[in-house]
Amino acid sequence: MIKENSVVTMHYELKNPEGEVLDSSKGQEPLVYLHGAGNIIIGLEEQLIGKAVGDKVNAVVAPEKGYGLPVDALIQTVPREAFGDDIKSVEVGMRFQAETEQGPVPVVVTAMDEKTVTVDGNHPLAGQELHFEVSIEEIREATQEEIDHGHVHGPGGVQH
Ligand code: ZN
Repeated sequence: MIKENSVVTMHYELKNPEGEVLDSSKGQEPLVYLHGAGNIIIGLEEQLIGKAVGDKVNAVVAPEKGYGLPVDALIQTVPREAFGDDIKSVEVGMRFQAETEQGPVPVVVTAMDEKTVTVDGNHPLAGQELHFEVSIEEIREATQEEIDHGHVHGPGGVQH
């Protein structure tokens, strides 16, 4: 059963409350993670404790335990001049890395007018309730090295 320091192999599908598929491992390699190491979002990890191979889990995760709530401070309106010549290629919906004091942050352009560009640095799934359908494929104990590194080694994990 899944507990602290289990290495879990699973297939998953992530939907929004409207039933739209946002992400899925279907047709791809399953996801492999180290339980208790923050490899996957906390709200899903919590609901997988005690599950066994073959279990199908429907987990609903609130935004607070998913990608967080949108933060106003991450939405900024900047003058068009800030983009220099690049402004020609800027359009609503465009994603890019913004340089900030905390390092590069992925942002999306949400609005533009004659003078300004509004960019949003919130995670695209911030504020979203997440609906996961998970099937547990495999569970094993982590090695001491994996526990020390905080991630899985070998197939589906970090190769180094
Ligand atoms: Zn490692």
